[in-house]
Amino acid sequence: MPNLDKVLIANRGEIALRVLRACKELDIKTVAVHSSVDADLMHVRLADESVCIGPPSSTESYLNVPAIISAAEITDSSAIHPGYGFLAENADFAEQVEKSGFIFIGPRAETIRLMGDKVSAKDAMKKAGVPTVPGSDGALPDDDEQILAMARDIGYPVIIKAAAGGGGRGMRVVHTEAALLPSVSVTRSEAGAAFGSDVVYMEKFLQKPRHVEIQVIADGQGNCIHLGDRDCSLQRRHQKILEEAPAPGIPDDLRQQVAEACVAACIEIGYRGAGTFEFLYEDGGFYFIEMNTRVQVEHPVTEMITSFDIVKEQLRIAAGMPLSVKQEDIQFRGHAFECRINAEDPRSFLPSPGKVTTFHAPGGLGVRVDSHIYEGYTVPPFYDSLIAKVISFGDTRESAMARMRQALDELVVEGIRTNTPLHRELTRDAAFQSGGVSIHYLERKLSQ
Ligand code: ADP
Repeated sequence: MPNLDKVLIANRGEIALRVLRACKELDIKTVAVHSSVDADLMHVRLADESVCIGPPSSTESYLNVPAIISAAEITDSSAIHPGYGFLAENADFAEQVEKSGFIFIGPRAETIRLMGDKVSAKDAMKKAGVPTVPGSDGALPDDDEQILAMARDIGYPVIIKAAAGGGGRGMRVVHTEAALLPSVSVTRSEAGAAFGSDVVYMEKFLQKPRHVEIQVIADGQGNCIHLGDRDCSLQRRHQKILEEAPAPGIPDDLRQQVAEACVAACIEIGYRGAGTFEFLYEDGGFYFIEMNTRVQVEHPVTEMITSFDIVKEQLRIAAGMPLSVKQEDIQFRGHAFECRINAEDPRSFLPSPGKVTTFHAPGGLGVRVDSHIYEGYTVPPFYDSLIAKVISFGDTRESAMARMRQALDELVVEGIRTNTPLHRELTRDAAFQSGGVSIHYLERKLSQ
């Protein structure tokens, strides 16, 4: 591929393998960088070259910017793919990569910065016509009376959120006026300590929303398309567990309208690459909460219903090519689910690293498994516990669900514990089967 003959994959696990597969298909050479415990990762074995960038601790390896850039230099790579997590949404990293003469496979650093601050992101989206959660319209002022007046206007309950927050941290729900000012000050100081910024803002707290997100991809040359929506409401501690596409039960005109608003916003901000607009969906309304400026864990469900390879397109865009398709070329067909298989105890959710003694992946028509594990592989204790994504596709939601049930029954992972039993239960759960449960459903079910 012109301008992109060698890609350094700055990640590990299943996403590193996913990026490697797309590179191989496009005949792009690959460089795997890994920590000292990760030399046996599947993508390290398959890459054209590999470089050990540090000890197990993420801060000294996968978050170690100088080590990663040095590895790109010594291997003469042309670009760096950050995957998700680690440095994927770090604007300073994107900037360093480009300053060092490599292509960053993602948006421009200034776009990542704009979206990394939730107050500026919300503001930009509102201006571009994307519906947002009603709230303080910017950072909270210092004046107590003004804060109290804002909450009265919005109506209780409200949620106080850190502008720089992430990973479900730095937010607090407030139900009464008496609790408001103390909550604001606690959230401010927590945010300052955790994220280095004590800027907080206020939103209406939605009581039973669903998490519905829109996938977009843009070439940074004025072209952008959307790839429809996903429902990721099944969450535990704000971590997604099971996702599907399309989101069930949403009126088509509304779906269309919000997707088009996302595309317009991308064009307005000069977005480049793959991205996701996350919304809360309640009572027929979409409310933007944040944008993720990277490929997401759950991107395969979208690939299954559109037959569009998101990672391959990321690579083409990074090589400077315009989008390979137009909106009207995208055909939505069928339904897909993804179960995140984590190395953890199915009841206590405590991590369960260790050696995989037996691994049997499910298969058959409409079943896809994205996983880096194999028999004899040892899951290290240092990183995310995701070991496999089981993805199912069917012409209808019911057939995709039936295939998922069967796939989960076929899956065998021994030597470590996994959350497979939870997924087996969820795919037999009546409320989930009917579709459209709220973001609180899973935690309430687990606490029973
Ligand atoms: P993070 O970047 O930490 O993931 P988000 O802004 O995406 O933060 O919010 C994370 C989760 O918190 C949402 O998926 C939702 O469950 C909950 N949440 C955030 N804002 C609201 C709100 N206004 N009303 C109800 N729940 C909310």
